Amino acid sequence: MLRETIRALAESKIAPFAAAVDEESRFPQEALDALVASDLHAVHVPEEYGGAGADALATVIVIEEVARVCASSSLIPAVNKLGSLPVILSGSEELKAKYLGPLAKGDAMFSYALSEPDAGSDAAGMKTKAVRDGDFWVLNGVKRWITNAGVSDFYTVMAVTDPAKRSKGISAFVVEKSDEGVSFGAPEKKLGIKGSPTREVYLDNVRIPADRMIGEEGTGFATAMKTLDHTRITIAAQALGIAQGALDYAKGYVQERKQFGKPIADFQGIQFMLADMAMKIEAARQLTYAAAAKSERGDADLTFQGAAAKCFASDVAMEVTTDAVQLLGGYGYTRDYPVERMMRDAKITQIYEGTNQVQRIVMARNLP
Ligand SMILES: Cc1cc2nc3c(=O)[nH]c(=O)nc-3n(C[C@H](O)[C@H](O)[C@H](O)COP(=O)(O)OP(=O)(O)OC[C@H]3O[C@@H](n4cnc5c(N)ncnc54)[C@H](O)[C@@H]3O)c2cc1C
Repeated sequence: MLRETIRALAESKIAPFAAAVDEESRFPQEALDALVASDLHAVHVPEEYGGAGADALATVIVIEEVARVCASSSLIPAVNKLGSLPVILSGSEELKAKYLGPLAKGDAMFSYALSEPDAGSDAAGMKTKAVRDGDFWVLNGVKRWITNAGVSDFYTVMAVTDPAKRSKGISAFVVEKSDEGVSFGAPEKKLGIKGSPTREVYLDNVRIPADRMIGEEGTGFATAMKTLDHTRITIAAQALGIAQGALDYAKGYVQERKQFGKPIADFQGIQFMLADMAMKIEAARQLTYAAAAKSERGDADLTFQGAAAKCFASDVAMEVTTDAVQLLGGYGYTRDYPVERMMRDAKITQIYEGTNQVQRIVMARNLP
């Protein structure tokens, strides 16, 4: 039922704008409005804080179905979970009550600010600092590549509170867009997901109350990594949706397109490509849904499974979307058809929330 609901909404209210959002590199406001109107913008927020209380698998299905028509729009439910999960996992009751309610209502979005210009894969090498000053913390630094920066009202920001302790000297905070000293860089000019704003976040003497710290001092990096264990599965879902969208489009096209006097779908070479694409997508789907169940239960092997799902599904998305372009021939290479956008959008799923090289490091350290 959930899949039917979100697919109908995605096809009627999000798909019609996907090409324009990409072409104009603009925020998919229509998608946000439609998702908020149907209470599907942040389904993971627990019921006690006014949310829909969807489990990890339901959240994955929402993201998958939105990504099937518009990858940029799928970052609305995905990053709302990424940004707010540190608060849900480690925040005080006061923080949860204050920040999850507006998110659930659709009054605010949440972003996640871990990466910096010189700290990507080596996120613990961050330089952003938070210094205690009485009942306040004062934050200074630059966060880079922050999805939905400028649009979101709330930011989970990781900052160094004790430089001597490296990853154990990092703490997490909620920063608000309206806090004095917060500003944003120009939107990045990207290959894909052009509708999802990616900007730097500048923190210039941002003074926030001490109770905005998420969890204990020094636990921010652990919270950030625990968050990714759960949310990499949402990137797998995004990859899966992009791949399914490309297959669905290509499947229809090959039945219409005629060469040598018959639909190209009649050629076995084409059929084998479609069979491989569908087989890979189904394998990615099973891995992703199994990982979502592990996320919900908090299984001990979640770290491996989340990394495996993200890595596998994103590699599948890149292969399948590239094959979809091939199946459309020269037409596939143009912006008159959606598959070249899907191919460009697929690429990011191999890069963010840890590159696929980093996923392999994570898997190797947590072999089942
Ligand atoms: C569009 C977009 C949106 C993003 N959104 C967010 C966000 O909302 N919040 C956030 O905090 N971050 C975000 N990121 C940042 C993203 O997570 C990082 O870009 C990513 O982790 C890689 O870091 P990097 O770009 O610094 O690459 P680098 O770490 O410099 O990596 C460069 C290359 O070296 C490889 N490499 C690095 N270390 C190793 C190693 N030990 N072994 C093998 N290979 C290695 C990498 O795999 C990669 O191929 C986003 C990035 C993009 C592009």
